[in-house]
Amino acid sequence: MAAPNPSDSLLLEATRRLLWAADVEAVLATGRDLVRSLGGSLLPAGATPGEAIPVDLALGTGPPVLPTAAPGSAARETLERQLPLFVRDAHRALELLDRSRRFADEATRDPLTGLWNRRMVTRLLPRIHEGSVVVVDLDHFKRVNDSWGHDAGDRVLQDFAHALSVTARTADYVARTGGEEFLVVLRGPEPDPFLERLRQTWQATRRDPVTFSAGTAAVHARAEDAVIAADRALYRAKRAGRDRWCSAELADYP
Ligand code: GH3
Ligand code: MG
Ligand code: MG
Repeated sequence: MAAPNPSDSLLLEATRRLLWAADVEAVLATGRDLVRSLGGSLLPAGATPGEAIPVDLALGTGPPVLPTAAPGSAARETLERQLPLFVRDAHRALELLDRSRRFADEATRDPLTGLWNRRMVTRLLPRIHEGSVVVVDLDHFKRVNDSWGHDAGDRVLQDFAHALSVTARTADYVARTGGEEFLVVLRGPEPDPFLERLRQTWQATRRDPVTFSAGTAAVHARAEDAVIAADRALYRAKRAGRDRWCSAELADYP
């Protein structure tokens, strides 16, 4: 039996690494490492690709990264033989990474608004032990659908989701938890400034005169309890006439 070719073992090892690549950079690094271990080098960015082997190790993710080795050398012959095989598998690895990212997104994002969904909220809340929560519900939303149709209602939901997103800060979480109901988890303890900004943004951007009500609660220990308290406060805001917010009292916590 012929002795295994060392370059075949290196290719096999690189392909194995692709199976475990957690992100795009890990895939690209595997290709660059393979070129070096096979005795080649990478052309510096912007160099004329005169002596390059025409295989793009950036895999189309950015400016081309081209390998090279001295013409006529053994290394060049090996690279020309092995790299096309590697690149085909690397493209496949990128496809699978992209697919699993999209699956993860679909499981945690609300398709209408792009906000986090209820499933994500269920996962997130046990990890939150400080800050505050805001439960927001659009007022008389049924009338929006009844008067202007369901599609117009959907557009209002999308516009409102956008207003929530631009008002929240990067560290906050914004979710659509039901039809016209949203939950915001704020890192800070003060929901009033958030709601003031939200009202301003919404009044400036809304296409229809739809208002919102909200209930707020500080997170003491369990964020799940704060959400229940905020829900009760929201109910009071509705009872008091809507288009306003109320904060939870101690008795609202379970
Ligand atoms: P309130 O001020 O008490 O909250 O009154 P409301 O009409 O907003 O509340 P209600 O719960 O009676 O009605 C909510 C409506 O939201 C009913 C439902 O048709 C509508 N809705 C729920 N999900 C969607 C959706 O995805 N798209 C649209 N267009 N409407 C939705
Ligand atoms: Mg409502
Ligand atoms: Mg509701």
